[in-house]
Amino acid sequence: MRILVTGGAGYVGSHCVRRLVADGHAVTVFDNLEYGHQQAVTPPAEFVVGDLSDPDALARALAPGFDAVMHFAGYTNVGESVAEPLKYYRGNVTNTTNLLDAIRTAGVRRLVFSSTCAVFGVPERLPISEDLPKAPINPYGATKLVVEWMLRDSAASWGLGSMALRYFNACGAAEDASIGEDHTPETHLIPIVLQVALGQRPHVQVFGNDYPTPDGSCVRDYIHVDDLAEVHLRAVTSIEPGTADALNVGTGRGYSVLEVIQAARDVTGHSIPVVIGPRRPGDPPSLYADPTRVRQRFNWRHQHDDLRGVIASAWRWHQSHPRGYRS
Ligand code: UDP
Repeated sequence: MRILVTGGAGYVGSHCVRRLVADGHAVTVFDNLEYGHQQAVTPPAEFVVGDLSDPDALARALAPGFDAVMHFAGYTNVGESVAEPLKYYRGNVTNTTNLLDAIRTAGVRRLVFSSTCAVFGVPERLPISEDLPKAPINPYGATKLVVEWMLRDSAASWGLGSMALRYFNACGAAEDASIGEDHTPETHLIPIVLQVALGQRPHVQVFGNDYPTPDGSCVRDYIHVDDLAEVHLRAVTSIEPGTADALNVGTGRGYSVLEVIQAARDVTGHSIPVVIGPRRPGDPPSLYADPTRVRQRFNWRHQHDDLRGVIASAWRWHQSHPRGYRS
């Protein structure tokens, strides 16, 4: 297939591009490099610098003709979204409106969208199955839910086929450590913990230890980025035009922040000092997936089942790239 990948120079996008290229697809990455890294794009994928706020750039990028679009580009930080909600509505909703206009004009009928478990807010039960109420408690989750609605309505009105993949917590790096996670500033738990192990930070701050969870810290479902990439590959090759579906993509198992830190101590041999801080606004106590539907739909199961193994893959990336792609 010929596939345009927005945000393909970012963390999850770049691992998906690598998987698509390995499978023989013709990939073009469209990325504004605000957070992405051109070195993260696996050849022979083509690279176009462009911004989703620019309809002309989008039309030019789509002009060669594509069978599908994968849409990763967007803002992803829960805490920042609480402080800067309009940045998130503009970046995640308005820009996706531009993208949908352009792909409609270009005649593309298949889209895979990066959604999030944050659309559920504080779920009324665990694990989180697709049918639970969508009630985001932060602007990040709200913007992703609005896009899911746009996709549903676009399927009905002009025949777009789409699959929204609601990621739980993406983590890890390519097995050969050629690409990995590099955010500036870094806000995600596992990279921060590994920066402590590298001596780049004195400690990790745990955002709250008074949650209603077994050890008081937040519980999340950490899924390896290469497992996510495999789901994207299966999604893009199976979308039917005119349908809009949404799947929860996680491992089905939750780990607390303190368990993640202990696993990182085991992997790195570093003591990783901890400071207990206040709760981070917008954080639900526990999020982990019911992966039944995604498993059935794609005959898929995550391969990276061991949290230590997942952290070890991230650790190889961080050790070989202590300053990320600038290393
Ligand atoms: N977290 C933390 N300290 C940090 C960064 C994150 O305690 O320095 C917690 C955060 O509150 C959440 C979990 O780790 O419960 C995962 O956060 P992350 O930002 O990695 O992903 P998110 O769940 O926001 O997508």
